[in-house]
Amino acid sequence: MSGPGASPKFAVVGSGPAGLGVLTALLDAGHAGRITLFEIDRAITPPAFTGEPEADAVGAFYDGVYREIWNGQSRKFPPPKTHFARALPKFGRGGKGKIFRSDTLGGLSNFWGGTALPFTDRELGGWPVTRAELDPHYRRLAALCGIAGRPDPLSRYFGEEFVNRPPLPMTRAFEKMERAVNEAGAHAGFEAAAGVNRCMLETRPGAARSCVQCGECLAGCFRDAIFSTRHEVAAMIADGRVALVRGQVRSFDAKTRQLTLADGQSAGPFDRIYLAAGCPNTTEIALRSLGLREAGEMADNSVYVFPVLHFGRTARPPGRESYLSLSNLLIGLLPAGTDLPFAQVQLYTNFDYMWRYNVPPALWPLVRGLVSWSRDRLFWARLYVHGRLSQSYAVGLENDALHFAPARSADRSAVARMMPVLRHALNRRGFYVPPIPPLYQNANSHYAATLPLGGTRVPVSREGEVAPGIYVCDSAAFPDLPAVSLTFTILAQAHRLAAQSL
Ligand SMILES: Cc1cc2nc3c(=O)[nH]c(=O)nc-3n(C[C@H](O)[C@H](O)[C@H](O)COP(=O)(O)OP(=O)(O)OC[C@H]3O[C@@H](n4cnc5c(N)ncnc54)[C@H](O)[C@@H]3O)c2cc1C
Ligand code: SF4
Repeated sequence: MSGPGASPKFAVVGSGPAGLGVLTALLDAGHAGRITLFEIDRAITPPAFTGEPEADAVGAFYDGVYREIWNGQSRKFPPPKTHFARALPKFGRGGKGKIFRSDTLGGLSNFWGGTALPFTDRELGGWPVTRAELDPHYRRLAALCGIAGRPDPLSRYFGEEFVNRPPLPMTRAFEKMERAVNEAGAHAGFEAAAGVNRCMLETRPGAARSCVQCGECLAGCFRDAIFSTRHEVAAMIADGRVALVRGQVRSFDAKTRQLTLADGQSAGPFDRIYLAAGCPNTTEIALRSLGLREAGEMADNSVYVFPVLHFGRTARPPGRESYLSLSNLLIGLLPAGTDLPFAQVQLYTNFDYMWRYNVPPALWPLVRGLVSWSRDRLFWARLYVHGRLSQSYAVGLENDALHFAPARSADRSAVARMMPVLRHALNRRGFYVPPIPPLYQNANSHYAATLPLGGTRVPVSREGEVAPGIYVCDSAAFPDLPAVSLTFTILAQAHRLAAQSL
């Protein structure tokens, strides 16, 4: 332990969004050079693309990626996200369970979709923090990460959105869909509001990593245009502000504040330890360290997928087709007299990856025209609902390894009440939601609430302390899991907890 007057020593476990939030707070407070980052740091596949992002060269690069996907991945519809033809690792036997396992510098932000929205006081009801208290932290992280967007009817719900980059370019069909939804008015206790996806995406013209709208986001972005914390953290390590120790943290000693790594080495003691290893991993470390078998249930947002058809006309701009396979449009279901909480819908165009993943490379030239033709005629909607209406997992240690078991099932009756609202909002101006039930996806990637702030099952203080000087800084500490995309709040909340701990 540092003696009186000595420089404090800080340990941060994990370099994803929560890790970046903590590191930024420590550096903002002038602690450069006193921070050790512990990170598994498995090597991530870099894009094998070099040179100018000229459309033909980009196309040829992704032809190679799809050939690798065809040879290396089994067929699946809808296809899972891959990273330059590599599957994303999961917990479970052979890494093929449902829950994503995070083990690279930058964590799951290397693979995410970038949607970044703040929580409002409605999402934060029951949390020991208000939106006003989070605002300076949202602002700080937005300045660092960059958020593309613009004010529109969704801003009525979110208030300040910390947008500081040009909006992502939606297709004309999405612009028309936005108008359609926004003229619909309230229905069955909800008001639907539509707007462009707020996204941590490089949209500034001429910027080094700016998006070129090649449409291949789900196969891995060759431009690194979608924000990853990897770049910021790598810069902190490169210039000596942060020291990196590669390795998997297994446990902390609650009394001495030392860390033990998987290779048996120990590190520390530290004055403060910040656990930011992602909800599942932080839970594992805390349970093992405290000698506990079970944490609180892990929340995840249920997602329901449904198609939207378009029979109207939209002229495409002349020239080569350009689009993004990230969500283009967001629809918020704003409670207006219902007992149900806010729900978020992300809309995607009918992107090539969806089909090309499953089509033999030799046949793709025959199919491509049809998929491209359908781009303005078929859309995919993903409805995200609040964690309390979603599936959850019991999380515990079995034979010293993290184990997940189904706990609560998704409440599909809530979604049955939301679908008429969405049909009312979308069935106009040539758009149409077919009268079929949405497809329930029983696993998503938004994990939270195993070690909630102020919780008692595993005692965690309202300030995030799980043992003296040891803080839970990621979404494990969320008291619950709203439907609003969680990662911007992970960044801001980690920054807040770390700043408050000093
Ligand atoms: C395909 C996909 C799409 C997504 N899209 C969105 C989206 O559009 N919007 C949104 O808000 N969210 C999205 N998410 C979720 C988002 O990625 C996560 O919420 C976010 O990355 C969690 O941040 P974190 O820092 O808590 O954890 P992680 O990102 O998981 O980072 C954890 C870090 O800790 C390290 N680590 C883990 N265990 C240890 C250990 N024992 N010792 C040392 N280091 C360790 C890991 O290597 C990693 O660097 C998406 C996720 C996926 C998989
Ligand atoms: S469209 Fe997607 S893959 Fe292409 S540059 Fe933009 S973000 Fe990257």
